[in-house]
Amino acid sequence: MFDLNLSSSSDSSVDGNEPLKLLVIGSGPAGFAAALYAARAELAPVVLTGMELGGQAALTHMIENYPGFPEGVGGSELGELFQKQAERFGTRTEFETATEVDLGKRPFEIKTDSGEYKAHSVIIATGARPNHLNIPKEEELTGRGVSYCATCDGWFFKDKKVVVVGGGDSALEEALYLTHHASSVTIVHRRDELRAGSILVSRAKENPKIDYVWDSVVTEVVGDEKVASVKIKNVKTEAESAIETDGLFIFIGHTPNTELFKGQLTLDDGGYIVVDRLMQTDLAGVYAAGEVADPHFRQVITSAGMGAGAAIQANRYIEEKGL
Ligand code: NAP
Repeated sequence: MFDLNLSSSSDSSVDGNEPLKLLVIGSGPAGFAAALYAARAELAPVVLTGMELGGQAALTHMIENYPGFPEGVGGSELGELFQKQAERFGTRTEFETATEVDLGKRPFEIKTDSGEYKAHSVIIATGARPNHLNIPKEEELTGRGVSYCATCDGWFFKDKKVVVVGGGDSALEEALYLTHHASSVTIVHRRDELRAGSILVSRAKENPKIDYVWDSVVTEVVGDEKVASVKIKNVKTEAESAIETDGLFIFIGHTPNTELFKGQLTLDDGGYIVVDRLMQTDLAGVYAAGEVADPHFRQVITSAGMGAGAAIQANRYIEEKGL
């Protein structure tokens, strides 16, 4: 998460009668890359940041696979650079969250927590959110030991024991980050093989602070004011046990933020917005980019690329329609 005082706008969030040429919903790499391209095409885009400025990438401690940064770059720092670059060409950033979208009207109508926008074209870049385990006390102890973001909360676990759930890239990346603070990191994975890429797997296996509990799931969080332990079940033997821990970090995949668009756009079985190769949804003038429309790659670079493509198409649409 980065500084919320970076807004370029002193305008009211509600635009009078003149519809925007382009409204971008979401402020992650897809949203700001779209805004950068749209601003340079003189579409004067407005970006609605949503609750999490910078999206999930801004919560990543270090991004090592975005080209141009051979030493890596902090997720929050990269997000700030995206925003700054988009604003340099006339993007307006508004710290609002879209609450209602009517894509049946032309221009499209988008209500936010503090106003309403009309726009001739829309790029949806609302991203995805971390999945929850939905086990007893998970919700109650969120912020009191249960977390979905090591970069945000790792500091609170200095010299403490933590458990990480998941076997994908996120789980390993975050587990490695947590070793900078915690005294030990126990990864609980439901299989005996990690899903994560080989570089992360070897780094994690070489790290003396990380150990593993295989073929197991966390079934309950235990603690009153804060996390004290977690209950574990081996899925092969059904044996139950407990691990004493100060923290539980959960990284078990994501759900796309598409609730606003249900019934208005085609979504796939996982809830992701279906787009064609040109980032076009099934409604002319509406494009989607980044993780909201991408269950496959989910990288900063692919999201940014999708955003740029969506903006190029939105500009063509605006020009063709003479809007
Ligand atoms: P993911 O690849 O879908 O992995 C989710 C992990 O959680 C899997 O190991 C899965 O187990 C486990 N899981 C799912 N539901 C579970 C449940 N209910 N209980 C226990 N475990 C559960 O998700 P991700 O790690 O967030 O990665 C998402 C995408 O982003 C991937 O494409 C990944 O490559 C990418 N990513 C890349 C980087 C990087 O390049 N540095 C960093 C982060 C993410 P199974 O393995 O048994 O299915």
